[in-house]
Amino acid sequence: MELNENARIDTSQVEDRRGSGGGGGMGIPIPIGGGRGGIVGIIIAVLVALVGGGFGLNAMNGGGGAEQGDNTALEQKCSAQDALEQLDCRNTLYVNSIQAYWRTAMPEVFGKQYRPSKTVFFSQAVSTGCGQADSGVGPFYCPADDLVYIDLTFYRLLADQLGAEGEFAQPYVLAHEYGHHVQDLLGTEAQMRRQQQRDPDNANALSVKLELQADCYAGAWAKNATGTADEQGQKIFTSITEQDIQQAIDTAEKIGDDAIQQRSGRPVNPDEFTHGTSEQRKQWFTKGWSTGDPKSCDTFGSGQ
Ligand SMILES: [Zn+2]
Repeated sequence: MELNENARIDTSQVEDRRGSGGGGGMGIPIPIGGGRGGIVGIIIAVLVALVGGGFGLNAMNGGGGAEQGDNTALEQKCSAQDALEQLDCRNTLYVNSIQAYWRTAMPEVFGKQYRPSKTVFFSQAVSTGCGQADSGVGPFYCPADDLVYIDLTFYRLLADQLGAEGEFAQPYVLAHEYGHHVQDLLGTEAQMRRQQQRDPDNANALSVKLELQADCYAGAWAKNATGTADEQGQKIFTSITEQDIQQAIDTAEKIGDDAIQQRSGRPVNPDEFTHGTSEQRKQWFTKGWSTGDPKSCDTFGSGQ
């Protein structure tokens, strides 16, 4: 994977809340079911999270999301010459690419306008429209305020704890979260919630379909990412290789529900699956990537 040095990094698509006091600094730990503390707790947190829809947050109250970010430092950093060496600037550029893709694809494929959503960089804890969250939950999308949240130190955790190494894991994670934003805009997410209420026995199975669709959308973005450009028309990626795609697939596999349960030393229990098995996640990311068409991401219609 190579990013274009000439692409302009549009920091207005992110909100930097890492400064002064870590944004809210509430640090209220999120209760995570089944955690046994230590590494197990962390891994379970990663699973809930990763890419997790972070919907566990819905149970929480508080929220408010009145915090304001300050992009001054980020803006400066990302307009400097070595910007692409900086994790936060690269991630901002990934966000730019993902949103550039959907701005075109959503009207084309679904006949609806895309509405941009910012990604909030936070450290440790953050106040969101879905409640207070801390880094333990991993990256998530909050449908109540239409924002993606990520503590960028999550990638270290992903690499160290789950062995999901490789740079392309990062845009994959972000593209998955933006997949949830697209589901929100299309009404898929709200529809799924209503279905869950009518059919609580199938709540987890429905959640899996939503998650797999977000993986598939991430694949569709990956296929089209080299066609995305900044506002001046400069391409964002100069190349994405087979190996990058393999890294995304590898990450999708590592965060499958069965893989995470195994790693945490618990028996594999399909009833507890909320994101899909390794095989399913791999399969749906690959489907989005091979077709390059979000229409093919029909996880709800496939009877899976
Ligand atoms: Zn998700």
